[in-house]
Amino acid sequence: MFADLHIHTTYSDGIYSPKEIINKAINAKLHKIAITDHDNYFGSLEAQKILDDIDSNLELIPGVEFSCHDSGSEFHIIGLFIDFDNSNLSGLISKMQDERMRSIKKIISHLQSKNIEIDLNKVTSRAKGSIGRPHIALELVEKGFARNVNDAFDKYLSNNILGKIKEPRMSTLEAIEVIRQSNGLPIWAHPKLSSDLSSNIKKLKNQGLIGVEIQSPRYGLNRQSELINICKKYKLLYSGGSDFHGVHEGVEISRNNAINEEEYNTLLEAKKDL
Ligand SMILES: [Zn+2]
Ligand SMILES: [Zn+2]
Repeated sequence: MFADLHIHTTYSDGIYSPKEIINKAINAKLHKIAITDHDNYFGSLEAQKILDDIDSNLELIPGVEFSCHDSGSEFHIIGLFIDFDNSNLSGLISKMQDERMRSIKKIISHLQSKNIEIDLNKVTSRAKGSIGRPHIALELVEKGFARNVNDAFDKYLSNNILGKIKEPRMSTLEAIEVIRQSNGLPIWAHPKLSSDLSSNIKKLKNQGLIGVEIQSPRYGLNRQSELINICKKYKLLYSGGSDFHGVHEGVEISRNNAINEEEYNTLLEAKKDL
């Protein structure tokens, strides 16, 4: 049994639609997937509708990835097996959608003040679920202000350049609490190895964290074994997946980036015990 519990679609910064993701997962002979778009679940809802209409054993686990800030650092918290009908969850998601839109408008008027004319409607039409800086970057490329997306970030969209215009972020506590209120499992996505890894794990565990991604194409063996050790020490469960966006060379939806049956079943048991 193979489960890829971290996948993006066109509803955040992935380039494939939910339908294309389902086809890729079926071709890769996966058994379970979670679509975990940033700060929204609309791609996951669409994927479930598609799966309901086709003859396939692929199972979709309801998921989301929240972009969070805590003490100046960025954390990504995944929610798995969540109840999309929970009103605290939908409230937080619509608040983040509003904040994202406000930030996009600020960036566009900042660009206009520098005589870089970008049309808000064109930017919003590129985004289906969560709008973000990558959608402005694509528009800057199309208008000829940048050679490619990286160039657009370097010239116009990095945190250094935008200074006071911050990316909208919730706190890790907000994310973890709302995932637990929605009967889901909060998972720390792709932690980096750093001197404060242990203290961050302790803090997140106190906030209600249940698991950590130990499987990711971003990891080398060192990072994976370090994370496994830390999970054992703090009694945290294993999760993981491809973090597939369709834009990073060599990263695919495949069994190589999936967690195994035992790891998946441990998550499922934890969900039942909530
Ligand atoms: Zn992430
Ligand atoms: Zn991700």
